[in-house]
Amino acid sequence: MTNHLASGCCICEIRTGQEAIGYCPDLRLRRCGRCGLVYQDRAFSTVELSNIYNETYYDHWGAKQNFETLWAIKVKSCLAYLELLTPSLPVPLVSPSLLDIGCAHGFMLEAAQQRGFRPVGIEVSPAGSIAKGQGFIVYDKSLLELRLQAQSFDIVTIIDVLEHIPAPQEFMQEIRRILKPGGAVLIVTPDIGSWAAKIMKGKWPHLKLEHVTYFNRRALSMLLTKMEFRVMRIRPSYKYLNFDYILGTFQKYTPGIFSRFLQITKRWIPERLAKTSIRFQTEMLAIARRTDAC
Ligand SMILES: [Zn+2]
Repeated sequence: MTNHLASGCCICEIRTGQEAIGYCPDLRLRRCGRCGLVYQDRAFSTVELSNIYNETYYDHWGAKQNFETLWAIKVKSCLAYLELLTPSLPVPLVSPSLLDIGCAHGFMLEAAQQRGFRPVGIEVSPAGSIAKGQGFIVYDKSLLELRLQAQSFDIVTIIDVLEHIPAPQEFMQEIRRILKPGGAVLIVTPDIGSWAAKIMKGKWPHLKLEHVTYFNRRALSMLLTKMEFRVMRIRPSYKYLNFDYILGTFQKYTPGIFSRFLQITKRWIPERLAKTSIRFQTEMLAIARRTDAC
């Protein structure tokens, strides 16, 4: 995939008006003065990428310690996403086809199957073998490498994926190509325009080396419109998380006082409570359809 990040805003395709952000020096962030996209002003080598997305990438989720609990909370979040998607679908759709890009262990595939969809996944990390082991079809190449058949899916879901993509226009163009006319895409991605991001600044937990683009609602709308999607809705999104999951995420991405506080607190929390899921607002969710049938 071409890395356009080091040449200005990859949505507006301009180099001027790009403000350097100083609160997270490790990531060399810039903000586009036109659309508000924040992005890492650098290119990644293949070696750097393979070091990030290695076999331990999902370990902080606690899959090795308690896969059943992780599976339950992740599937529950995905069922909630599908609930929001249904009113935006062209009706009636019988057993619609759904492609989940970045399907990890297969949480969305399971949720989609439970709701009568025909799910297929893409996962380039070793987690995809777990989804395959559960009987799902999972491709282990990137979306652009696969060159899937045009107009072959009713729905594409990209949960926690867009922020990893250095060339989002190219990526969304390919999603449009494989969607059927009127097909829908569901996106969940961090919102750099949220109050949490503004208040927490450099401590915002979504700031990660592998997150190369950070959208606000305006930048996401502009991207979708430019790629010939009609935005049906953009709203806050929620995830079901438990104490162990939150602790694992903070320990990996934001080590420090708060992380240590959580670690100490865990000693006093009953095991059952630490595994109980609670609904948190975490990111934003967008649903858009191909403009040719909206
Ligand atoms: Zn821009």
